[in-house]
Amino acid sequence: MERIYIGMGSNLADPAEQLRSAIEALAQLPQSSLIGVSAFYQSDSLLPGQPRYTNAVAALDSTLAPLVLLDALQAIENDQGRERLERWGPRTLDLDILLFGDRLIDEPRLKVPHYHMQERAFVLYPLAELAPADLCLADGRTLAELLGACPFVGLERLPAR
Ligand code: ATP
Ligand code: MG
Ligand code: MG
Repeated sequence: MERIYIGMGSNLADPAEQLRSAIEALAQLPQSSLIGVSAFYQSDSLLPGQPRYTNAVAALDSTLAPLVLLDALQAIENDQGRERLERWGPRTLDLDILLFGDRLIDEPRLKVPHYHMQERAFVLYPLAELAPADLCLADGRTLAELLGACPFVGLERLPAR
């Protein structure tokens, strides 16, 4: 079993409901147990002119191989109506593998740790609800250090999931 953290985001078609459906789908994955889910957060889109995002992070224990898990996550995205029109375009559901145990993966389809997670508040703050503060990321910095360098700006923690 390896501990995997998955970043979730949606800014179309009732984002909170998209995340709830995604959590149900994650709980059904084979060879896996859903360990926990953070609160939901709202954040401004990285690109101007898009609706605000709802984000969360899930922790999963799994024996699935990384690319098999990626296929399963993309199938969940597709089931929930994800259309890939433009990079970083608005989407019903985005599921990104943030961390996969302590693996470094550099394949054409899969880079882990997820690039840019180090500076994304909408990833780091929900991750901190599930992961230990001394969790070490690829560049040797801990989650606590990354949080210290990443202001809680443009982010709103929602009271209920
Ligand atoms: P960003 O990666 O900046 O968060 P995005 O999530 O919108 O952008 P997608 O359109 O969801 O990007 O994914 C584009 C491709 O990224 C996918 O087809 C997938 O093969 C690849 N990819 C590479 N690393 C990962 C990862 N760690 N998790 C999910 N997808 C990944
Ligand atoms: Mg993404
Ligand atoms: Mg993605």
